[in-house]
Amino acid sequence: MGLKYRIIVSRGYRFTVYRDWRYTAAPVITRIGRIPREPSKECLMKQWIGLLGLALVLHAAPARAEVRTPKLEVTIVAPQDAKTVKWAEDAKKLTQKWYPKIVEILGVEQPVDPLRIKLVFRKMEGVAYSSGREIHVSTDWIEQHPDDIGLVVHELTHQVQSYPDYDPSWVTEGIADYVRWWCYEPKSPRSPINFSRAKYSDSYRTTAAFFHWIEVKNPGFIKTLSDVMLKNTYGDDRWSQWANAPIDDLWAQFKADSQKPVKK
Ligand SMILES: [Zn+2]
Repeated sequence: MGLKYRIIVSRGYRFTVYRDWRYTAAPVITRIGRIPREPSKECLMKQWIGLLGLALVLHAAPARAEVRTPKLEVTIVAPQDAKTVKWAEDAKKLTQKWYPKIVEILGVEQPVDPLRIKLVFRKMEGVAYSSGREIHVSTDWIEQHPDDIGLVVHELTHQVQSYPDYDPSWVTEGIADYVRWWCYEPKSPRSPINFSRAKYSDSYRTTAAFFHWIEVKNPGFIKTLSDVMLKNTYGDDRWSQWANAPIDDLWAQFKADSQKPVKK
């Protein structure tokens, strides 16, 4: 049996090289096979190329691990008629595609383990809601509005948000509609805001449009606001820190900008 030598390659990965030809690599170091007494030059060359390749892979591995794509596991609970099953499958695909995107938009750190949610389709009042790790969708609604699949993006945003307290709810809902209408469906037609009645706290689409306007002027605003909600430190008096002006001034500017005549 030949003598063995140890060399440190990088980042604590240790390679053990046997004098003759066999080697193996850390972190699991075990000697493999028998060591032949007279290895050929070609054999030695192949082993060193293999060692170099392994070193490169191990060197690169931690860097790749840092860019972890958040994973989602979805279970469907639905009546078994063909239309609902098809809609539910499409919704599942949409959630899996958009989960990492929403995580990126909000900048909310997700657990290492996959997020496990249930998509429940059933007869119920209303359109859809998110509760715990479940998203419930009205079967009557999807039958009457089969193209409204974007509602799933709104509800999935609530799953990503997971704020300890959804208060103020207009911020939580405004962010969810911002993700749906300005990130997922940015080209969808929008009815104009009636500024004689509208308020920034109207929630949903009005708030979403306002948030979009702020985000364009202050890139990173949505992430900041989401972080504030996550830390439960929201305050009406803090808007100057997040968007460089008090909220009433921002709303007034948004109103003025939105009412400018569109250049043709
Ligand atoms: Zn909502």
